[in-house]
Amino acid sequence: MTGPELSVAGLGVNYGGVRAAHDIAFTVAPGEAVGIIGANGAGKTSTLKAIMGLAPRVVRTLRFGEHDLARMPAHQVVRAGIGYVPEGRHVFPGLTVDKNLLLGAYTRKWDAETKGSLEEVFTMFPVLGEMRHRLAGALSGGQQQMLAIGRALMSRPRLMVLDEPSMGLSPKLVGEILLALRRLNEEGLSILLVEQNAKLTFEVTSRCLVMENGEIAMTGTCAALRGDPTVRRVYLGV
Ligand code: ATP
Repeated sequence: MTGPELSVAGLGVNYGGVRAAHDIAFTVAPGEAVGIIGANGAGKTSTLKAIMGLAPRVVRTLRFGEHDLARMPAHQVVRAGIGYVPEGRHVFPGLTVDKNLLLGAYTRKWDAETKGSLEEVFTMFPVLGEMRHRLAGALSGGQQQMLAIGRALMSRPRLMVLDEPSMGLSPKLVGEILLALRRLNEEGLSILLVEQNAKLTFEVTSRCLVMENGEIAMTGTCAALRGDPTVRRVYLGV
């Protein structure tokens, strides 16, 4: 079952005097996968954090279906059905893999359904099942990324917001993350993916925004953007 639409308009982020994002507007339709690409410092992370209630924001419209997120703190945004995989993973290194995953289920009761979600995460990422009693700090970067995705899945989101999941990973692991995201999207989970890796983004999403200097410089289907000379030169290096 697909979730509601995310609708963003007039979103801005300011850190003191630094304008990190300005007048951002876009939607993520139910079941859609949308990407945000852009160079270092373009404002991608700030935009995601603002949606999640983790950055100082001004906003005209910020809705997820019936939920008005404009004044919601982050824990309520998660309850509204948006899972967040932050840049740099932020797993709890001193806790076991199991415990990290259970922390992601803080919005739910510990019942058969929640146990089922844990098993689903282990089916998607078998290595997490094998290492479930190990400390998260002992996992490789790629395994920690899987754990961060698994932890977000434990809240049973209907939209998953991911910040640079490919960062620092080998091409093989990037491929595994890509397959997992595709599968989740095929199962009906909406996705909002921020990446510097445009090639990966185009393989997961159907539509992208290009951010430059805190603003949306371009939007289009991935097919159209792949053919755009500027995108090819700046973001695909061809
Ligand atoms: P990256 O790919 O490096 O994460 P980005 O596109 O996600 O880049 P942001 O991290 O959103 O960009 O940063 C946008 C701008 O806001 C940059 O100029 C950055 O230096 C600034 N910025 C980000 N976080 C803060 C903060 N906490 N305080 C002050 N300025 C910040």
